[in-house]
Amino acid sequence: MKVLVVEDNKTVSMIASRIINSMGHEAILATDGEQALALFKGDRYDLVLMDVELPGLDGFETTRRIRQLAPDSWFPIIFISGNTEDTYLATGIEAGGDDYLSKPVKPVVLKAKINAMARIAQMQEQLSATNKNLEVANEELQRLSCLDGLTSVVNRRGFDKQFKVEWGRCLRESTPLSVMMIDIDQFKGFNDNYGHLAGDDCLRIVAQTLGNQLLRPGDLIARYGGEEFAVLLPLTDLKGAQDVVDNMFDALNKANVPYPDSTVCDRVTISIGVFCTTQLALDFDKTDKLMLVQHADEALYVAKHSGRNQAVIYSDEFSKG
Ligand code: GH3
Ligand code: MG
Ligand code: MG
Ligand code: MG
Repeated sequence: MKVLVVEDNKTVSMIASRIINSMGHEAILATDGEQALALFKGDRYDLVLMDVELPGLDGFETTRRIRQLAPDSWFPIIFISGNTEDTYLATGIEAGGDDYLSKPVKPVVLKAKINAMARIAQMQEQLSATNKNLEVANEELQRLSCLDGLTSVVNRRGFDKQFKVEWGRCLRESTPLSVMMIDIDQFKGFNDNYGHLAGDDCLRIVAQTLGNQLLRPGDLIARYGGEEFAVLLPLTDLKGAQDVVDNMFDALNKANVPYPDSTVCDRVTISIGVFCTTQLALDFDKTDKLMLVQHADEALYVAKHSGRNQAVIYSDEFSKG
């Protein structure tokens, strides 16, 4: 341990440092409060032995200031004073001290106190290391809880979280936000014909292929459910969304996942519904954000019923029917 001894009496500090060093610790000496504070600004100590009667700042005030300098870390401070009044002890503890010894201190008592405080300091250190590990584990857990295990893209929970953020930005800054709902065509038949494992592989390929077409940092693809994906395109109007759609169809064609039994095409295809906030009325801050997903879903429904393997942009006409 690094032990800071704050003591203006040279004889006392010499005896204390001899005891500390004989115990295998390192004693550092300060002769007044200012010097102790200066040392604390540049370094950290595991234990402080603090005289109360000091020239300039007294030990109580020095202790208060030391605690203010390091509000997030704890280390024991033991007062050593010639004054044996109980009120002194109370003031010392209130100032941030942890124990109070009266001069002259017997070496055997000082050693025992140092050992006891070392034990507490070590437990404290273990506790903060455990806390730090827990924090890291928690962050990782948070991250994993938003990921889909099969496809490694964000899951519904992650989508909802990001959707809330982007909708907030859209309202605040009146920037466009496009939403896409994507569904694999005749996927039940794919599973029925080629098995569930092949179906899982297909889901992975589709997720990765579509995800690779999202180039901006704010763009997001999520597995919304079974074989359905949702895409968020912040700061993107319908023209921009259409470009992404074109790239997705191109890329999936190139990925060329065979599906000879499909009635749509001889490879795996998707249908897409698109909606952009620029299609909302001007006072759209009264809109429920789920309306965006619902309109994209309505457009997807039309795409399915128009022969699949295509994207449809939402139109107000859909809601009227
Ligand atoms: P449509 O073109 O109208 O979308 O028809 P579809 O067959 O794709 O739609 P339907 O909703 O009837 O079937 C969806 C299928 O997706 C059924 C289900 O077994 C499959 N599916 C959902 N989740 C998974 C998954 O995690 N793995 C696999 N292999 N299949 C899944
Ligand atoms: Mg003194
Ligand atoms: Mg579906
Ligand atoms: Mg489907």
